[in-house]
Amino acid sequence: MLAATSVHVSLDGNAILRGVDLAVAEGEWVTIIGPNGAGKSTFLRAVGGFLPYSGSILLSGTETGAHSRRQRARIVASVAQQPVVPPGIRVFDYVLLGRTPYIPLLGRESLQDLSIVEERLHALDLLPFASRRLDTLSGGERQRVYLARALAQSAPLLLLDEPTSALDIGHQQEVLELVDGLRRAHGLTVLATMHDLSLAGEYADRLVLMSDGTVAASGPPSAVLTEELLRSHYRANVRVIDADFGPVVVPVR
Ligand code: ADP
Ligand code: MG
Repeated sequence: MLAATSVHVSLDGNAILRGVDLAVAEGEWVTIIGPNGAGKSTFLRAVGGFLPYSGSILLSGTETGAHSRRQRARIVASVAQQPVVPPGIRVFDYVLLGRTPYIPLLGRESLQDLSIVEERLHALDLLPFASRRLDTLSGGERQRVYLARALAQSAPLLLLDEPTSALDIGHQQEVLELVDGLRRAHGLTVLATMHDLSLAGEYADRLVLMSDGTVAASGPPSAVLTEELLRSHYRANVRVIDADFGPVVVPVR
């Protein structure tokens, strides 16, 4: 689904990504972890076609930069860490923006577009907010709206940049379960970034540890969430406990 080879990105003359190799198979869930500033968001933005890069990023076999915006939006849907929101927009209309790649130029949305929006609002507990202004919602409610917009795009690859960081523990679980359910039902491929390491390990097939603009480790959660790797890349003192559902990372004073 996604094959990135030797990806370099420079921003304002600084080398931010310095040769990233990362592949995600169809239907796989890969989560990128790594300290602040490692380049996780930058990588997701390059994959989404929002940044110039050198090297190669293939989406279903075609270079992401070679797709038209409209084509690319049918393949990959992103939830940015800090999405840009049109001022004053209502929740329903914002989620409807996810249908843009299917609405003919100068045309109107179809009944199917409207029913997909309604279905995504329902799935994310957002129907009561449909006619509210997006800027009046709480951080967690807003984060669910961003996800609803991306899911309305019905793209096979979903990029999620810290999708749960503003959510309480109940909504974290609900959102991740919803994404996982869609993945199982529709063969969705997921590339996410997350800061909660235990949670990251619980939902991903594979973790990629990014550090200083390159991939430092990659593999099943138990191979990446090790005390040694976390100590050297996060400079954190942690204990990793083996639970029956996977590794649990606990900070230790
Ligand atoms: P992460 O998501 O892993 O925390 P980012 O990809 O957001 O990291 O950022 C990686 C590095 O790139 C950071 O050091 C950040 O300051 C830098 N950076 C991001 N955007 C720009 C920019 N427009 N110009 C210069 N540096 C940037
Ligand atoms: Mg980031």
